[in-house]
Amino acid sequence: MTAAPDGAYALRYASRTVSTRGEHFYGHPDGCLDDWPIDYFTWVVLDADRTVVVDTGFTPQTALERGDRPYAATPPQLLERLGRTAGDVTDVVLTHLHYDHTGHLDAYPGARIWLQRRELDFWSSPLASRPGFAHLRHDADLARLAGLVEAGRVELLDGDARLSDRIGLHLVGGHTPGMQVVRAATDDGLVVLASDASHFYANYENDHPYGVVYHLEDMHLAFDRLRELAGTDGVVVPGHDPRVAERFPPVPGGEALVLHLTPRHLAVNHEGAVHAQQR
Ligand SMILES: [Zn+2]
Repeated sequence: MTAAPDGAYALRYASRTVSTRGEHFYGHPDGCLDDWPIDYFTWVVLDADRTVVVDTGFTPQTALERGDRPYAATPPQLLERLGRTAGDVTDVVLTHLHYDHTGHLDAYPGARIWLQRRELDFWSSPLASRPGFAHLRHDADLARLAGLVEAGRVELLDGDARLSDRIGLHLVGGHTPGMQVVRAATDDGLVVLASDASHFYANYENDHPYGVVYHLEDMHLAFDRLRELAGTDGVVVPGHDPRVAERFPPVPGGEALVLHLTPRHLAVNHEGAVHAQQR
């Protein structure tokens, strides 16, 4: 297909069929046994001469192992619907190292990997084998990542950094020790990719922490940081919310699996959504 315009995109590669509200909100929320659908995304920023992939998803094999995770297409396959291939990817940002963000690391042979050092240190430490953490990591992915570090392909960050003139990486912590979010200044406006700093709109909009917490105070501060990074005109895109597909349009031929994250579209066409984002 023809190349998509520069901008930010969400790739909705999988979902989960068995999921309750109680899993996703801290404490013991009302209606904790209610169904609470969850989607799995990776993101892409096309920026002048760069193709930046934000997180790498889990593989079909991991979906089978964990169960109840219908799989649409791999993130590298969905990337092709934007007119790019995995070989075109110049940069991969890993927001954090949970299993649903670290698969397919070997699919992008030319990419530089961007990761916070404290995130790598934590998941390489004995603490990451304790029951509260072990089920969230994927050992083969982490071994692959260690190989990439060894090969000198990983940029280990100590705090906020710039990936390019228009793309910033911001350390927030909270969900994991080195959780980072991405802010992209696109032609369509400011897009803040929250990843799991806010799984759902309901987390940061209602100041309600997610159920998996590394540091509760930092999780609240991350919500503040997301709002600050988006400013008055930008949008925050949560990491797992099926509502992202209601608020943003699919690219042509994308079957709602490839979504164009354009604040301008919201301003023009989605008055309800804009209202929902007012802060
Ligand atoms: Zn996640």
